[in-house]
Order: sequence, then C-alpha cells, then structure tokens
Amino acid sequence: MKNIQMVDLKSQYNKIKDQIDTAVIQTLESTSFINGPIVKEFADSLEDYLDVKHVIPCANGTDALQIALMALSLKPGDEVICPSFTYVATAEVISLLSLTPVMTDVDPDTFNITADIIRPHITSKTKAIVPVHLYGQSSDMEGIMDLAKEFGLYVIEDNAQAIGAKYTFRDGTVKNTGTIGHIGTTSFFPSKNLGCYGDGGAMFTNDDEIAKNLKMIANHGQEVRYYHKVTGCNSRLDSIQAAILNIKLNHLDNYSFLRNIMAKKYDENFLEIPELSLPKRQFNSTHVFHQYTLKVIPELRNSLIEFLKVNNIPAMIYYPVPLYKQEAFSSFVNSDFEIPNVEKLCSTVFSLPIHTEIENSSQDYIIQKVTEFFNKI
Ligand SMILES: *Cc1c(COP(=O)(O)O)cnc(C)c1O
Repeated sequence: MKNIQMVDLKSQYNKIKDQIDTAVIQTLESTSFINGPIVKEFADSLEDYLDVKHVIPCANGTDALQIALMALSLKPGDEVICPSFTYVATAEVISLLSLTPVMTDVDPDTFNITADIIRPHITSKTKAIVPVHLYGQSSDMEGIMDLAKEFGLYVIEDNAQAIGAKYTFRDGTVKNTGTIGHIGTTSFFPSKNLGCYGDGGAMFTNDDEIAKNLKMIANHGQEVRYYHKVTGCNSRLDSIQAAILNIKLNHLDNYSFLRNIMAKKYDENFLEIPELSLPKRQFNSTHVFHQYTLKVIPELRNSLIEFLKVNNIPAMIYYPVPLYKQEAFSSFVNSDFEIPNVEKLCSTVFSLPIHTEIENSSQDYIIQKVTEFFNKI
C-alpha cells in the first residue's frame, strides 16, 4: 500500500504526465511566459465550463478576493460580512483594504453562512457579503442573493474550495458556484480541486463593467499601457500555469466524481459510529468534496488524530481557531467575543484524506482504523 497523503499530487501528475509535459514544453518553447495566448485560451475554456461571461485570471486566490473588493469602490470603514469559520484570506483582504470585516456564525451542519445568519449583521455601513463555499458545496445562494437585493449589497463568492459545484434555484435554474454573486473568486493552489503547479487564481463575473474594472486593477490600474486610471496591483497567472490548468480543467468533472465516490464510501462506513457526525449535504447544491470533514466529540478528537497518525494516516483540522480569535483581527471584536457554533466547530471538526488517486485498499485501511478506534473506546 502506498503512503497515505491528504493529497497525492504526484500520482495525479503521473496519470496526465504526457499531456502536461507536452503543454509545459510548448510554453517554454514559445517563451511567452506572461500573458501568452494560452492564458486567454484557458480563461475562455473556463468561461465555457462555468457558463460565465468573464473569467479574469490572476496570481492567486487571495489576490482574487482583494481585487474583487477593490473593484467595488468601497470606502474605508465600510462593512463586509463574511463567515468566521473559513481560511484567513477571506477576512484578511477586507482588513487589508481598511474595510471592516464583520465575522459571523455559520450553519453547524453545512459549515456555511446563510441569509438568516447574515441578516441581523446588516447595518447602514454594510456594503458587501463574502460567502465561502466551504469544503466544496454551495452556501444558500438564493437566500443570500435575495437578501443582497433587499439591502443593495454586493456579493463576492469565495469559491476557492468549490469549483465545479452546482447550485439549483427554486425555479430549477442551475448555476455554477462562483457565477451567482456579482463576482466569484477562486484559487488554483496545487491542492485545490483545480490546482496548478504553483500559484494561480481567477475572478468570474457576468457584469461587463465589473469585468473591465477587475482587469484594469489586476494590471496596475491601466487599460491603455502607461496610462493609469486607478491604483491597481500586479496580479497575473503565468503562461505555464495556464497551460497546466487548461489540461487539468478537462479532468475536473472526473476528479469531482471520484471525490464523491470516496465520500459516499466514508459515509456508508461511518454512519453507525455514534461519536461521529457525517458531513451534511446542502439540499440544493452538489458537493465537490474539497475536504471530507466530520465532527467528533471534542474529548476524542486529539486521541483519534493521534491514533490515525501512529497508523500513518494523516488527518487535518480545518480550522482550529475562529477568525475573530486571531490576533490579526483583534481590533474588530471585543476580547470576550464568541460565537458558540463556531467555537464548537473549531474543537470538533477533522478532515480525512480525500483525493482523486486514492487506492481502494488505502481507503479501506483508513475506514478500518477509524472504526477500530471507536470500537476500542
Ligand atoms: C485557498 C483559499 C483561499 C486563498 O487562495 P490562495 O491561492 O492560497 O491565495 C481563499 N479562500 C479560501 C476559502 C481558500 O480555501
């Protein structure tokens, strides 16, 4: 049996090595390393895949969020609502732009923010909402878009963990996550579901005016070379990464499919373990299982993770600390600020390996060891 890893990028690469190597060598031969034709080709392919009007590639998922916020002409002190149970980048860019992150609760079963959670946080200063489609399934986008409309707010979807997930509206319309809000953002960090072999990111929008702004900001605030309209930044996806992504995009649906098979097998085998709660599916979203995240009673989490580690099975905690407890964001909350649901999640969640290259025998072994742990206690 192979060493079990949280992600196995080596085996994944080996399966598509010929295609990837050819594409990388072609890019090297072209020496068009920045803004080469392949970057546009990839953006076009992703537009088709997501059924969205504009895909604007950039340097990473954090930049994507930052540029998205910069494109909305917000003023210092404007409030932006985001979940407090997410990766740091979501709130970091809000704070970096001198906006105020309003860090909220999440639904303890789907791990995502909802319209009901957001509503009481809306003030006259609220300008935008950043829902995060955590672990690979959509937030309640219909509710969130209705709320945004009611209060005239922008919605930026942080889709770094859910690319390829589909959300169904009440009227039956199906949309890809990241294409529902005013702007969607994603990351192509290597371990993401659509990952490159370095850093990369992108923004999505159906709005021509916003697309123009995003493009301009990512390119030093210029539309015409050497004429800078606004203070922008330098955020580009390089051609080699675009060439790799253009190939991997063809495999994305299959990767999601394989992740779902793995998740289903975990579900079936863990259903009878009373100390574990299985990841709940959002009823109107597909799941692409960026992470397979369970909840376990807090007293057992450390010993379970330790037991798995001794047996060469990695398990990770995403995320151990609520964002409002991070020193970096201490100025935005009182020291006794606490959200019970999020505190609880931070002490109960753990994620098991889920990726596209796992061997059946490896998953069987993981299941066997998890089961053994609970049989022994
Ligand atoms: C990975 C991730 C990001 C940031 O992406 P980078 O490419 O690492 O900058 C932002 N938000 C979420 C939810 C992520 O998982």
